[in-house]
Amino acid sequence: MDNFSKKYVETFMAGLTAANPGEKEFAQAVGEVLQSVAPYIMDYPQLKEQKIMERMVEPERVIIFRVPWVDDRGQVQVNRGFRVQMNSAIGPYKGGIRFHESVNLSIMKFLAFEQTFKNALTTLPMGGAKGGSNFSPKGKSDAEVMRFCQSFMTELQRHIGQDTDVPAGDIGVGGREIGFLFGQYKRLRDEFTGTLTGKGLSWGGSLLRPEATGFGACYFAQEMLATRGEGFKGRTVVISGSGNVAQYAAKKAMQLGAKVVTLSDSNGYIYDPDGLDEEKWQYVMTLKNMLRGRIREYAVKYPTATYYEGQKPWGVKCDIAMPCATQNEIDGDAARTLVANGCFCVTEGANMPSTPEAVEVFQNAGILYSPGKASNAGGVATSGLEMTQNSIRQHWTSEEVDAHLHRIMSDIHASCAKYGAKPDGSIDYVKGANLAGFIKVAWAMVDQGIV
Ligand code: NDP
Repeated sequence: MDNFSKKYVETFMAGLTAANPGEKEFAQAVGEVLQSVAPYIMDYPQLKEQKIMERMVEPERVIIFRVPWVDDRGQVQVNRGFRVQMNSAIGPYKGGIRFHESVNLSIMKFLAFEQTFKNALTTLPMGGAKGGSNFSPKGKSDAEVMRFCQSFMTELQRHIGQDTDVPAGDIGVGGREIGFLFGQYKRLRDEFTGTLTGKGLSWGGSLLRPEATGFGACYFAQEMLATRGEGFKGRTVVISGSGNVAQYAAKKAMQLGAKVVTLSDSNGYIYDPDGLDEEKWQYVMTLKNMLRGRIREYAVKYPTATYYEGQKPWGVKCDIAMPCATQNEIDGDAARTLVANGCFCVTEGANMPSTPEAVEVFQNAGILYSPGKASNAGGVATSGLEMTQNSIRQHWTSEEVDAHLHRIMSDIHASCAKYGAKPDGSIDYVKGANLAGFIKVAWAMVDQGIV
């Protein structure tokens, strides 16, 4: 990076951290994008004069609200709800809702910021947002989750709508939660619209939406691998997480001929040297989605597997790694271990799962590495397809949705290749994704004046 760009990044980040004290995840996400786009901003003084970046990091609106509810013992509980409406330059706000004990303003802002670029990359007209609560559905009864969702939506419904803001799922928010949220939205607003995505199939959902993020991540990895004449066939894949994204990343990787040897949750990971098969995968689906159990139970059911309490799977030897759990789950040491063990492709299913140091390790090692905002965009893209189907009151087949998903992931790869091309012929996917998303949103903001 030239000296002007370097100075711009330093001054900008100093201002950002002073204005947003303690918001470390948000600063991390902005810092990463800024590194990629600063030289472009220097080339177009209009973007600097119009303070495009300064405006992009200031959410258009942040809503923070009380979520009171009554647990099964009759005790009153209070949680905090958030919706960060980050940027609507290219379409209505769109982004998931996360229910997890770690949720705070910094995490919401980082996710909404990332979402803005990711949505721009999908080629669909969607702005960026994120929401959630520090409520954890883990260990709660269905009735408690329902009462919480109803209270959460009682406030949120004022701020969303099919042409305003369309939430979806994320960590802790799956089909059950979307159902409760949609039911309350419909009841309060007296309208049946496509305001939430990830809906059940019989009430407006899209085929393949549950699969989309994991499948899309594998399609993106296929595109990356193809640039080196590689593929999934015969390769060993390490996956973290055992939720929605991990489940379908595992399924597609298996379908493409890979051996998936790990899954994890926040307590530990399982290593199955024989790899998952269809029966074991079905067991995981039932364990996580119906029984709401823990991944350690896999090793009880399949004794050839070992459970490692309190550890992450990055020490397991693999060719391809797919972090699909949460932010900052791969640090510098874990990244060095992966590279030393021969891993040559890291495709992020989760949002920002690699720390900046880990990203540097992958890039310096010259391995294939894609940031979540490119490789996990299949989820929101298919949410966009759900919105289209709701608007035109039609239901596409799995084949139709899958064809759209394939094309979108391939278009995102092409955008990364265009904006991230390196002189040696390889692709900097971080720069490519950041720059492609930025250019689209930035010039839309210029067109729309100082708003
Ligand atoms: P789920 O809630 O379905 O699953 C999350 C998984 O990650 C669980 O196995 C969970 O374990 C684990 N996990 C969560 N927090 C932590 C933590 N702090 N440390 C270790 N493990 C953790 O969520 P999703 O699969 O939907 O989301 C996973 C990631 O993918 C997130 O980063 C999300 O933002 C991203 N993403 C999701 C999309 C979607 O369509 N769902 C779209 C794009 C990105 P446990 O059960 O113990 O909590």
